[in-house]
Amino acid sequence: MRYAIIADIHANLEGLRAVLEDIKGQGCTHVVCLGDVVGYGANPKECLDIIRGMNIPVVKGNHDEYIGSTEDPEGFNDAAAEAVTWSRNQLTDEDRKWLRDLKYRRLVASFSIVHATLDVPERWGYVFEKLQAASSFTYQNTQVCFFGHTHVPLAFIKDTAVRGGVYHPEGLRVEPGKKYFVNVGSVGQPRDGDPRAGYVVYDLARQTIDLRRIEYDVATAQRKIREAGLPERLAKRLAEGR
Ligand code: ZN
Repeated sequence: MRYAIIADIHANLEGLRAVLEDIKGQGCTHVVCLGDVVGYGANPKECLDIIRGMNIPVVKGNHDEYIGSTEDPEGFNDAAAEAVTWSRNQLTDEDRKWLRDLKYRRLVASFSIVHATLDVPERWGYVFEKLQAASSFTYQNTQVCFFGHTHVPLAFIKDTAVRGGVYHPEGLRVEPGKKYFVNVGSVGQPRDGDPRAGYVVYDLARQTIDLRRIEYDVATAQRKIREAGLPERLAKRLAEGR
């Protein structure tokens, strides 16, 4: 079985289409999604329809939660909050109920998936370094767990201690006796300085985890954000990968 693990699509239809095309070429048999299907980008309805139609395991992201509800988003900057309100209006009540009903974490085959952290997933903490990863490892009862939320691909490995930041241009091999907490990067709004869409292929037979980076039509995604009247910053950052 070869799993494609995608996260943080953020209503970027061009990014999502390019990634789904690459997934086909990679011979993946399954796809799972780590949340934030919507928010920021100009195509929330289209992206949600695609992901829903795939009938795959999806966990809830903070944008999914806020766009699915009627509450004011907490801890969002102005551009993100504006995108929440705009996105709500693009979706049906039924779409928003689907977002609300998503679970915070799930077990898929032999691994787990979560949007932010395993310790308190509904608090949307960020894992950028070892100490933050250590809290999640305490609650990780599978050898491998995939997460998103930071939009920065990073792998944390726990053996006798927690090691961090060890991403792996040539791939990562899952070895016995170690645990892996792996950020798969972002399909729709990468923030590691590389504007290409990111996702991960997890091959269960080979026990390898490979990061993929895919070129997509950034200019069209930007143009749609501007035409929708969404904040300019949301368009600009796509080209910068920030
Ligand atoms: Zn996100």
